[in-house]
Amino acid sequence: MRTVITGGAGFVGSHLCERFLAEGDEVYCVDNLLTGNPRNIAHLGDNPKFRFIEHNISEPIQVDGPVDNVLHFASPASPADYLAHPIPTLKVGALGTHNALGLAKAKDARFLLASTSEVYGDPEVHPQREDYWGNVNPIGPRGCYDEAKRFAEAITMAYHRYHGVKTRIVRIFNTYGPRMRLNDGRVLPAFMGQILRGEPLSVYGKGDQTRSFCYVTDLVEGIVRLLRTDFSEPVNIGNPSELTVLELAREILAMIDAPQDHIVFHELPQDDPKRRRPDITRAQQLLGWGPTIDRADGLKRTLDYFRTVL
Ligand code: NAD
Ligand code: UDP
Repeated sequence: MRTVITGGAGFVGSHLCERFLAEGDEVYCVDNLLTGNPRNIAHLGDNPKFRFIEHNISEPIQVDGPVDNVLHFASPASPADYLAHPIPTLKVGALGTHNALGLAKAKDARFLLASTSEVYGDPEVHPQREDYWGNVNPIGPRGCYDEAKRFAEAITMAYHRYHGVKTRIVRIFNTYGPRMRLNDGRVLPAFMGQILRGEPLSVYGKGDQTRSFCYVTDLVEGIVRLLRTDFSEPVNIGNPSELTVLELAREILAMIDAPQDHIVFHELPQDDPKRRRPDITRAQQLLGWGPTIDRADGLKRTLDYFRTVL
């Protein structure tokens, strides 16, 4: 099997590259290093089945020989990153998805799109099920990401219905683990960098907004299982264990016995979703999937990683 992974030098993509190599596949990692880092894949460089192709997937791509799977993960993912790169974000969700679908169609390969819980926007339905259409502000600061992913889902379904491409869509909820960028602005690396530097934790708003965090290897397992089905509608993958941002801050402070009030409150960003938790009934029934790594364990593994890169 040959698997092409766009965004393979990023956080999730690098774990996918590892996993597909472990399955015995040849892996072509396509990345322009906009938010990724060659260090994430440096340990794979000696593997003869691994190939890094530095390329912007928003431009057409040619790959020689057969391809069995195309996993499209290229896109800035952190709010700070997509606010800094709104146009590349829109382009990679739209043109990049078109090019990745074109490759899958030309090679008669399976295609899997990395979509997101952000397609639900600031949800009015809780927890979020796949049949909820969402509450997205198209012209707000997050619109460049949310609408790019919604377009990506639409063009993926069109390629499935019109061209018969074997497509899958995973709606990923907040995922964390080693190889996140310490300064990517997402809450978990932000808090962990802060406790390791002895700084107060930056909680936005009152910290009463909720998220549900999934450890990266659980996500990867869900993706592998979904790819092997013939199910073309979206599937949520995430850990339903929900907590407020303030509770998360306190859990992280407790990891190093720091005072529970070592927190500084900042303004809440515009359109920050108030509540987020996946309904994973579909993944449980279709894939027999559920998260296996609890937060205490996952946070410890992640903090151990950040200690090595600080
Ligand atoms: P990341 O920023 O670590 O990885 C994204 C990778 O895509 C980077 O290596 C970047 O250089 C690459 N990239 C961006 N634009 C590109 C382009 N035009 N051409 C080629 N490569 C490009 O982010 P991540 O957290 O690993 O996210 C990966 C995917 O998963 C994204 O599509 C994201 O939307 C999706 N996702 C992630 C989460 C999460 O919690 N981590 C949640 C929902 C969805
Ligand atoms: N957040 C925070 N402090 C930070 C970074 C983020 O309180 O330093 C909050 C943010 O407002 C949001 C939640 O943490 O409510 C998750 O933010 P993140 O950027 O990780 O991703 P999101 O789920 O919003 O896409």
